[in-house]
Amino acid sequence: EQKVTPNRTPVIFSNELQQRVIDTQAILEGLQQATARRQLYLCYQPIVSAKDSSFCAFEALLRWDFDGRFIGPDQFIPLAEKSGLIKEIGAWVLNRACMDASQWQYAHNAAVSVNVSIIQLMDDSFIRALDNALRSSGLAPERLHLEITESIFVDNKIKIKQQLEAIQARKVHVSIDDFGTGYSSLSQLQTLSVNQVKIDKSFIDNMHHNGEAIIRATLFIASELNCKTVAEGVETLEQALALKAMGVDYLQGFYFAKPMRNAQLIDWQNPITDITTPSAQAK
Ligand code: C2E
Ligand code: MG
Ligand code: MG
Ligand code: MG
Repeated sequence: EQKVTPNRTPVIFSNELQQRVIDTQAILEGLQQATARRQLYLCYQPIVSAKDSSFCAFEALLRWDFDGRFIGPDQFIPLAEKSGLIKEIGAWVLNRACMDASQWQYAHNAAVSVNVSIIQLMDDSFIRALDNALRSSGLAPERLHLEITESIFVDNKIKIKQQLEAIQARKVHVSIDDFGTGYSSLSQLQTLSVNQVKIDKSFIDNMHHNGEAIIRATLFIASELNCKTVAEGVETLEQALALKAMGVDYLQGFYFAKPMRNAQLIDWQNPITDITTPSAQAK
């Protein structure tokens, strides 16, 4: 068979464009039925202590099996936000995560960390949904962490502050997700009380270049604000060691574990018992 270089004509381009429009439409329609059709499920990724690598929390990450097509949250969450479906989906996630965590016998002290979209947070029904999830699961509120993306701190600061205060009044923790990638000014952070800062993967990836300076600056700010720190997207022992040495509290990433189904968590044995190099162990 002869290889033919695809002919990039305007016709093909407009077909692709059309396909994408159809996809978006199909995804939106599918998403409308996803909860009812039980196509959504959560995976959990461990967050471990940098000190002794014991697991402290599990982040709930939403998955969608759209009739055998797996569509990532980066793709469908923005659509859910635009269409308003995020309210219903977000409430489902909150309930499921609290329910699952309340049944983690092997990890009865571990927290569950749930991503919350700004649209969801700003909705008047959010605190009710939160109370519902806590009440129906019986989960201790200290074991629930809510991850909110930093870029949200741009708009409507008063309402955000009120919502965060309502959350924390219930003893639920607030984490800033993807820290350093958003547009918030650091002074805004001062006025909002947060419990934890998650340093974005891009800075971990970039540690050999400018990433380290940004991580150190973030650690300084976090300690001034009495926040715990989590490094996201840790893929190698070298990264884990460097982050631990810098004083990051918690680590999360494929080096420790990929996100797993709830049923798999029970059997999960943390393969990494100590974040040290062989030479460090010898000392
Ligand atoms: P996020 O909250 O920053 O989650 C971290 C993402 O990085 C996850 O992707 C996770 O699977 C991935 N990850 C973790 N460790 C590593 C690593 O070592 N290497 C690499 N390459 N990736 C790693 P995922 O599950 O595709 O989620 C993407 C984003 O979608 C999340 O980013 C979050 O913003 C959003 N999301 C996921 N679940 C939910 C949800 O239930 N509600 C809302 N509102 N957003 C969600
Ligand atoms: Mg997150
Ligand atoms: Mg993140
Ligand atoms: Mg992210």
